[in-house]
Amino acid sequence: MKMQMVGQKMLIGGEWIGRENKIEVRNPQDNRLIDTVPAASKEDMLYTIESARQGAEISANLATHERMRILNKAASLILDRSESFARTIALEGSKTIREARKEVKRCAETLKLSAEEARRIHGETIPFDQTAGNEQRVGYYYRFPVGVVAAITPFNDPLNLVAHKVGPAIASGNAIIVKPATLTPLSAIELAKVFVEAGLPKKVLSVITGKGSEIGDTLIESKDVRMISFTGGLETGEDIAKKAGIKKIAMELGSNSPTIILNDANLEQAVDATVSGAFSAAGQNCIGVQRVYIEEGIYDHFIGQFVERTKQYKVGDKLSENTDVGPMIAEKEAIRVEQWVEEAVRYGANIVAGGKRDGAFYEPTVLTNVPEECRLAREEIFGPVVLLYPVRSLNEAIERSNQVNYGLQAGIFTTAIDQAFAAIQQLGVGGIMINDSSDFRIDAMPFGGIKGSGLGREGVKYSIEEMTEPKVVCFKLNSSQ
Ligand code: NAD
Repeated sequence: MKMQMVGQKMLIGGEWIGRENKIEVRNPQDNRLIDTVPAASKEDMLYTIESARQGAEISANLATHERMRILNKAASLILDRSESFARTIALEGSKTIREARKEVKRCAETLKLSAEEARRIHGETIPFDQTAGNEQRVGYYYRFPVGVVAAITPFNDPLNLVAHKVGPAIASGNAIIVKPATLTPLSAIELAKVFVEAGLPKKVLSVITGKGSEIGDTLIESKDVRMISFTGGLETGEDIAKKAGIKKIAMELGSNSPTIILNDANLEQAVDATVSGAFSAAGQNCIGVQRVYIEEGIYDHFIGQFVERTKQYKVGDKLSENTDVGPMIAEKEAIRVEQWVEEAVRYGANIVAGGKRDGAFYEPTVLTNVPEECRLAREEIFGPVVLLYPVRSLNEAIERSNQVNYGLQAGIFTTAIDQAFAAIQQLGVGGIMINDSSDFRIDAMPFGGIKGSGLGREGVKYSIEEMTEPKVVCFKLNSSQ
């Protein structure tokens, strides 16, 4: 499957701009060059911010029906070209072609949802007469756009996670500057082309390519940028939060999500969902299953089924229709995963499936007996590795689930309503899936975490709330009338 290498440009201030200085985009599977993108400079970033400042005025003045038309048109153009989008995702990232197709569909859905939500951005009336002396006042609040939004996005969903910022920003009348992941900028550039074709006015959307470490600070520290919408790792998120100053920040960060399986669970469903949740996108998924707590009565049986299912997963060429698990995003990431697994084994863990690396490929790997002091037990692995633990009770499972500095999503398999409710109340996460693994999301639900998993929520409607500010209007009536 070939893609024509054209030397991509970045969209700044409504113009497609190239630069002598380029970044190579390589296929992580075989390190082949796919394309190049410009390496933007600090001056490019300053120019982008200035044009976005003008874009914010243009965007705020676009009528709602126009915003809706553009978003719906972009969604339909993406669906028309869905196979080409899927190939771009699969080539530059680490998803298989089948996983990439799902992402394209979800991206179109995210943009359609954004069009729908554009008509529902409203405030409410305020009963000012609730405090004495204000009987002659009436008013309301409405929501207005923050202005310029900076979107910094990760490699693992290079299209839909960009759409989760661009869609709501356009729907709510903002201008947006996207700084896509350095390793996977092509999907974001293709998305920008679609918006240009859909008639989005110039300067409302910019996609600027370059290394986060080189152009990031200029974007993050700018006073003209009124909100940073970041999706990525905890360390980068902390760094950005320190530098941002007084502006809104939304942080969608990582996790090491738990899923709990109780004795009364439907085992077949639990095995299917947890294996798929652990290994989809080669485990590079913020809500991927990393820790599974299994009640003692079913532990041995569960492990047997889990390992059998894991071994059925085919690792290989991500562009082949038969592949279930592709490579990791870079060989160095696969080496990191290998080292974390080796560390756990040194501490006494057992590998019950997988455990081998070949270049950027790492086998779906199942570990038991991983001590709590290992990195694997505490931090986010972001790779195809899952830890299975026996637990005596739901209470123990909840306590151990909560013992980490993350809290994005969790899952629990049980048929007992009181157990499910105990988990709902006590698990410290932003979302709990009953009879599913942590790895479930639709694009319209509030999505985000607590603790090291982030701040704020995405999911179109909720992103729009974050990207707008309430403005209060109060009329003092003339009492003589
Ligand atoms: P990353 O933190 O390395 O990079 C994310 C983005 O930040 C990239 O665009 C990168 O270029 C940029 N960046 C890096 N250093 C920067 C700096 N100093 N200043 C400004 N920008 C900088 O993350 P990644 O490896 O691309 O993605 C994986 C992480 O993303 C995982 O932790 C994963 O859990 C998380 N993630 C979270 C969600 C969510 O919605 N909660 C979704 C997907 C991924």
